[in-house]
Amino acid sequence: MASDLGNQGTLCTLEFAVQMTCQSCVDAVRKSLQGVAGVQDVEVHLENQMVLVHTTLPSQEVQALLEGTGRQAVLKGMGSGQLKNLGAAVAILGGPGTVQGVVRFLQLTPERCLIEGTIDGLEPGLHGLHVHQYGDLTNNCNSCGNHFNPDGASHGGPQDSDRHRGDLGNVRADADGRAIFRMEDEQLKVWDVIGRSLIIDEGEDDLGRGGHPLSKITGNSGERLACGIIARSAGLFQNPKQICSCDGLTIWEERGRPIAGKGRKESAQPPAHL
Ligand code: ZN
Repeated sequence: MASDLGNQGTLCTLEFAVQMTCQSCVDAVRKSLQGVAGVQDVEVHLENQMVLVHTTLPSQEVQALLEGTGRQAVLKGMGSGQLKNLGAAVAILGGPGTVQGVVRFLQLTPERCLIEGTIDGLEPGLHGLHVHQYGDLTNNCNSCGNHFNPDGASHGGPQDSDRHRGDLGNVRADADGRAIFRMEDEQLKVWDVIGRSLIIDEGEDDLGRGGHPLSKITGNSGERLACGIIARSAGLFQNPKQICSCDGLTIWEERGRPIAGKGRKESAQPPAHL
């Protein structure tokens, strides 16, 4: 579904670590992104084995293009290009089954939050995706509470003004069971979702319009397949020089799933500095 997103959305900057040893590697990396819709600009830094891509594409798509050169590409960071760090977060999704994924949140502006990621192991088709109230995995996805809804609204779709704030609508899995997505939302803020959880559901979210008893509560999107705590990440960098000065900087902490119970179990206020 993501290939039609190339010319939409707000640009962000992705930082990849790519193994490059010589100028021909640099040329190959540049060529892999040349003329690709949704890629505005590419900076290749051989000395740091770093590639910065200014793009509206999901990070997974850019990574696949880079890896098409035969080199491993690791996403190290993601920034909005703004000078101010507005906040970033990541959720590693897992569950009792085989569904797993990584979803990143980046506050692009005080109004707009970017949500992008890849989820694997799904049945092909649409699946509801929601931020839930609690980051509590003590009983797997079942202890995460309802959809995040501080306004006391009814369930709806992401474009509706009357919706749960956690309502992100559906993502589409392809024939291989993989969903790659990138969306922007003006109701969710990174500082509101940190410590909560993200859940992908078995079925399609009817966006509150299905006429089922659960439509106005959950979108009737079925069982919770996989979930993860939304953890803060230092996802933003301010300029390439700053990155270069930091040896071994790991912006995303994705090596393990956040510890159950680490997430919030009650409503919290935004950090004072925001
Ligand atoms: Zn909802």
